[in-house]
Amino acid sequence: MQKRSSTNSIFLPPLFDSITDEVLIVDREYRIAWFNKAFKNEYEKKFGSSISVGDMVSTLQSEPASSIVILDTWQRVFSGGEFSITEQYKGNVDTYMELRFVPIKDAGEKVVAAAVFIKDVTFIRRAEIDLIQSRIILQESQHIAKLTRWTFEVGSATIDWDNTFHEVFGVSFKTEKTKEKFFNCFTASSKKEFEETIKKAVEDKKNEFSIDSEIITEDTTHRFIHTLAKIEYNKDSKVLVIGVSNDVSEIKEASRRLTERNRELENTKSAMLNVLEDVQELEKKTTQKVQQLNAILSSMREALVAVDEKMNIVLINEAAGALLRIAPQDAIGKSFAEICPFYKNDKKIPERIYPLKKALVEKTIISFDITDEISIKDHTGKFVPIALTASYLAAEVDISAIAIMRDITKEKEVDLAKTELISLASHQLRTPLSSVNWYAEMLLAGDAGSLSEEAHMYVTEIYKGNHRMIDLVNALLNVSRVDLGKIMIEPEKVMLPALVDGVFEDLALMVKEKNITFLKKIPKTISSYTGDKKIITITLQNLFSNAVKYTPAEGIITFSVVRAKKGETIGEYTLLRDSLVFSVADTGYGIPKKDQPKIFSKLYRADNVKEMEANGNGLGLYLVKSMVETAGGKVWFTSVPDKGSTFYVALPEKGMEKRAGVTVFT
Ligand code: ADP
Repeated sequence: MQKRSSTNSIFLPPLFDSITDEVLIVDREYRIAWFNKAFKNEYEKKFGSSISVGDMVSTLQSEPASSIVILDTWQRVFSGGEFSITEQYKGNVDTYMELRFVPIKDAGEKVVAAAVFIKDVTFIRRAEIDLIQSRIILQESQHIAKLTRWTFEVGSATIDWDNTFHEVFGVSFKTEKTKEKFFNCFTASSKKEFEETIKKAVEDKKNEFSIDSEIITEDTTHRFIHTLAKIEYNKDSKVLVIGVSNDVSEIKEASRRLTERNRELENTKSAMLNVLEDVQELEKKTTQKVQQLNAILSSMREALVAVDEKMNIVLINEAAGALLRIAPQDAIGKSFAEICPFYKNDKKIPERIYPLKKALVEKTIISFDITDEISIKDHTGKFVPIALTASYLAAEVDISAIAIMRDITKEKEVDLAKTELISLASHQLRTPLSSVNWYAEMLLAGDAGSLSEEAHMYVTEIYKGNHRMIDLVNALLNVSRVDLGKIMIEPEKVMLPALVDGVFEDLALMVKEKNITFLKKIPKTISSYTGDKKIITITLQNLFSNAVKYTPAEGIITFSVVRAKKGETIGEYTLLRDSLVFSVADTGYGIPKKDQPKIFSKLYRADNVKEMEANGNGLGLYLVKSMVETAGGKVWFTSVPDKGSTFYVALPEKGMEKRAGVTVFT
């Protein structure tokens, strides 16, 4: 290139015209010495005016590159500086211009002029800005995703990581960037696994691998990271590992929770399945039990009815259906008392003492046997005698009580036949026994000549034995009369003190032998009573003789009579009507608890007295009960073993009612 000393004569090669950069040359007097086409075009386009060589540079319009009009800038170049200025021009679209100021020197290194090369760097700048923004976004994303990037060379001790590393791996910024520090972040097993994975990947010439690891941060919390790494093999056999690790603890925790929840659900499911199985098994068993129960119930000859606490039928077997003349399925839910009214001596048993109700209210078992004369009516209106056991069920089931009933027509017939036989036999026995009694009395009286002492003793024994036999036959006869037919009641005015004395006199001998004290408490106001003398006498005879028999020597027997009102409780029994109550209290052996419910049964004797007192037949109280109840009264007792017993008889206060019948007691 040829140079000239004058500014005008500077050689400017046409080359500059062919480049896209704008070029402007200024001489040391700050005059425009030259500009290329690009500068000219651009200037004219922007400002609509032209420029000429020789113009002062400061007269140029300044936009877009303002620094070209500032003389100081040129001054800087003239002093030998070479520099670049980037300027932003805010037009429709932001434009960035790079101005490169270059001094032009002569051979002697003297600055003779200065040039400016103006280049549109908008695209480059934009790309730079985009790049920076992308970096920022990347960093932010990394931050949000807890993602970090690291690089190391296999075989080298150092590692490089970006700023997010500290956050993801939980290490301080001061941490040295060494591979040792890097691997120390891992748990022992994860470290081993990580190292082996890299080794294997490199051996297999793999380009990438991924791995999940557990790390421990500086504050000793455990985290889980997922790493995706690329392996680059350079020509100079350098191997570079570039990894991106992100914190997946939350995901891991979420998935752990999910797994746990799934397991819980699985467990719940299987538990529910088990319960379901159990329920099915139970159902099966219950069905089997119900079938068994039904089979048992329907094969039972006894009639069984179960009721709830309202006495509505919940279960009824076929025998009960047959007895009550109702289809079992129709009876369910109906009131038992309505379907099955009970009768005693042709009279309906009132609701309040209805057997099942009593069992329910008193929470007990109540039995009625052949002697209780309970019956139900069949469809023809005929009474069917039954035996009944009503039991309260304490178990917490729908059933509150059950009644088991049996048609005892046949038993009644047999019983009747038996009673008739006893009656007949007793009658037949009475005549010969009377003869024996009579002749024995005659022998003892010496009507057949005086007897030797020995003969007298023997005849006395015959006489006593015969008397016991007569007592037994009389008792049997009375019982058979009671059992057979209607008891006749013939009320009359009975003087009580005289009657009591008479009865007691008969026992005088025994009372004396045992040295028993007899106390009598008859208020003056109750000297007489309108009742059947025979019934009262036999009743008192039995109660007195029992008291004497079952009381040891030196005992006390107290007889008393009181008037008592309905509702009053005497000896644990509450009276159902106004009554005259007799009581015979002794200080004797008492009646054991287990024997107490059976004491009024025919032929029953308690174990505690059987051995002590042979003289007894178990018929007395049965007779007393039958008679007193027929006369509208009630018999009961209280007893404490080895302390004594008190027997009570309540008779209607207004007197007994006349009753037609055939029985004449002996
Ligand atoms: P018995 O002829 O055996 O006395 P009862 O019918 O009069 O027959 O009495 C039945 C049973 O009741 C007696 O055998 C006895 O066990 C018991 N008994 C009756 N009265 C008394 C009493 N006062 N003291 C104790 N036990 C009695």
